[in-house]
Amino acid sequence: MNKIEHLGIAVKDIQKSNELFSKLLNTSPYKQEEVVSENVITSFFKVGESKIELLQATSENSAIHKFIEKKGEGIHHIAYDVSDIHAEIKRLKGEGFQMIHEEPKDGADNKLIAFLHPKSTNGVLIEICQEKV
Ligand code: ZN
Repeated sequence: MNKIEHLGIAVKDIQKSNELFSKLLNTSPYKQEEVVSENVITSFFKVGESKIELLQATSENSAIHKFIEKKGEGIHHIAYDVSDIHAEIKRLKGEGFQMIHEEPKDGADNKLIAFLHPKSTNGVLIEICQEKV
């Protein structure tokens, strides 16, 4: 894994949170994007080399909706940048980690992504992502 690519934060109202994080980070989101397959709207902020992803549910079927019901707003996942997501999924499975996605899927921000099950990572939801070329 190369670096932490972004932190995902679950929010109830992305417009309000965009305003809040714009004030906090003193910069505007560089991208806002709906991921229909995940029932979320996302927005991204750059902070130096790091990124923050805000996620708002667009339906009650969204994992973000369920997360907020259970735990409230807050840090939802840590995403690591990888160079070869297929190889990394294979490696992680070999190490005994449980993947939510056995095959990479399209994510926000021009990425292929896969999530690990938090059961196998001390309760932390982990995303691995690879920039699409
Ligand atoms: Zn993410």
